[in-house]
Amino acid sequence: MNNIRCYNCTEEINRENQSLEHIIPNACGGRLTSRDLLCKECNSYFGEKWDAALAKTTNAFANLLMITRDRGEPQSEKGVGLRTQEEFKLPPGKPPVLSKPTIIEDLKNGEIEIHANSEKELRKVLEGYKRTYPEIDVEKALASTEHKREYFDQAVNLKVHIGGPEVLKAIVKIAVNFFIHKGGGRDDIKHLLPYLKGTKELNIVWLYHPEERVYAAGIKEVPHVIKIIGDPKEGVLYAYVELFDTHSFIVLLNENYKDAPVDLDYVFDVVSQTSKENVTKLTLVKNDIIEILKQKPFNINKVRSRIDRVRKISNKLHDHREIDKIIRNAVKVFEKESEGVLISEEAKNKFLEQVSLDFAKFMLHKQNSVAYLREDKPK
Ligand SMILES: [Zn+2]
Repeated sequence: MNNIRCYNCTEEINRENQSLEHIIPNACGGRLTSRDLLCKECNSYFGEKWDAALAKTTNAFANLLMITRDRGEPQSEKGVGLRTQEEFKLPPGKPPVLSKPTIIEDLKNGEIEIHANSEKELRKVLEGYKRTYPEIDVEKALASTEHKREYFDQAVNLKVHIGGPEVLKAIVKIAVNFFIHKGGGRDDIKHLLPYLKGTKELNIVWLYHPEERVYAAGIKEVPHVIKIIGDPKEGVLYAYVELFDTHSFIVLLNENYKDAPVDLDYVFDVVSQTSKENVTKLTLVKNDIIEILKQKPFNINKVRSRIDRVRKISNKLHDHREIDKIIRNAVKVFEKESEGVLISEEAKNKFLEQVSLDFAKFMLHKQNSVAYLREDKPK
């Protein structure tokens, strides 16, 4: 039996030097892992920079979909509210918060309006003002604060970047890792190693949004897709990589491929956290791929419609969570009742009142809120 070797340095992988590699990065919610790809030392150059760039690109999607990761915390996105022009932080799975307190000064009337996330934040702003205006009574001002907890009712403009040289390297790495993980030969990809280490540039990867979907996602699915095709007759080994049903790429792994025919795929739905195989369709000839890499097309409308689809799924996920919260909140009415006693008419009415009030607020909010995502052409 052959021993397992690092595909970069060919050092034998053993218990001491093994390292766990996420084939689709952890930051994207990837679950497919292997300890048989790279030794610890090589894993440390292969990657972190590229994976971090990819994580930045896909973070908004990971947050929208509230995906869970094996390790590490998702980052908050920042966006500008289109109505108030305030900058908000969008923590994953939580309501937006102001990035910093908003201060509206009306000095003519001697009034200052401050929007802050907490009393602590408000106190800091007021104490700042007290240095200029010693007559301000901080405690009195704090006591007269209006506390508001309301739905976030304005669209936020979020910027989404797709591509960039580091992201493209992360995509090639996904393809190479998957190919080796599935038993592909090191000799077929070894010319890509300097590129993956960042010491040589190659024109081998670009965005690709085919007319016919490589994997036709179900209505609730947001998949990651990897497909690898090796065609010795055409003399080509290539990969298709798609993340969050939106960012999709073609990778030319080898343009003189002579090994056995290969048709491998892996689909992971980030919503249900389930994976499938043998469910994709794609046939390209070598010249199609070479043409894509030469022309570098970018179809913004296709990307936009895919983002829109993911946004709708995300909205549904958030709605379910919100409805659940409304019910759980209303059920608290019954907790005050003593155990074993029949639920009183008064408690029932209170429950209904609470549910309808919260639902009314929720429905109003639904009508008003839209999220915008803007895409930039990759460099
Ligand atoms: Zn190594």
